[in-house]
Amino acid sequence: MPKQNTVKSAVQVNGIALHTGVRASLRILPAAENTGIVFRRVDMPGSPEVKALAGNVIDVRRATTIASRTTGAFVLTVEHIMASLHAACVDNAYIEMDGPEPPIADGSAKSFFQGIMNAGIEEQDAEAEYWTASAPIVFEDRNTMIALLPADDLQISFTTEYNYSKLDTQFFHCNITTETFGKELSLARTFCPYNELAQVIAAGLAKGGSLDNAIILHDGALISKDGLRYPNELVRHKMMDMVGDLFLVGKRVKAHIMSIKSGHPTHVKLAQMMLEQETKNKQ
Ligand SMILES: [Zn+2]
Repeated sequence: MPKQNTVKSAVQVNGIALHTGVRASLRILPAAENTGIVFRRVDMPGSPEVKALAGNVIDVRRATTIASRTTGAFVLTVEHIMASLHAACVDNAYIEMDGPEPPIADGSAKSFFQGIMNAGIEEQDAEAEYWTASAPIVFEDRNTMIALLPADDLQISFTTEYNYSKLDTQFFHCNITTETFGKELSLARTFCPYNELAQVIAAGLAKGGSLDNAIILHDGALISKDGLRYPNELVRHKMMDMVGDLFLVGKRVKAHIMSIKSGHPTHVKLAQMMLEQETKNKQ
């Protein structure tokens, strides 16, 4: 049986926070077995903690935000860090944050994932825990659809469509391992349709956004710095987000998930349904 893992040494990532536009830094630190993934707001008195679990999600618009019910401390945009930890099989870690938002870096999971891999993975004594399906989970939510089937590993088949151009209808399938995540998903950047930018900016968001950390969809084209990193970078980014959101079940996931146009709201709903299935099986 595989064992639980943590990081061998601290991982530091610095940069600009996407929404607030201020400088932000975080540290991923080793944690004892059975700790799970715990965010710590070291900028707040008493450094309150927020456990990365689906039950602590308070907002899913554009990013996944979690909060502690007792202290009210919250952390925005946890998905790229969570995806990197999930893919690297890091079950236990503290994430020290100097504000509510992590650095956006280049809009992909690259700096988190590479930081973790460079620090190294430390095997612990306890056995790793996996979420596995006892029955399929299928649901529709407006124009999105998710079907989860039992499987011996984590596989995702994802379709995106935004109706802005032919370029944004994309399909990708991947067996998620540490290796495939690094090669196929970790570099895929976030994106925003041009006509939504005004709304985002009016809402006081994306103050740190630029072509340094996002792809813009505009007038039938994808506008990005130095071209695209993958021909289907959009769907790969959505898949990376999903790997992160799924880790909110609190353990590594083994399942085949087919998604049509899902995003954070449907991913978090799926994670909640997965936890409900698990609870029901224990009764
Ligand atoms: Zn993302």
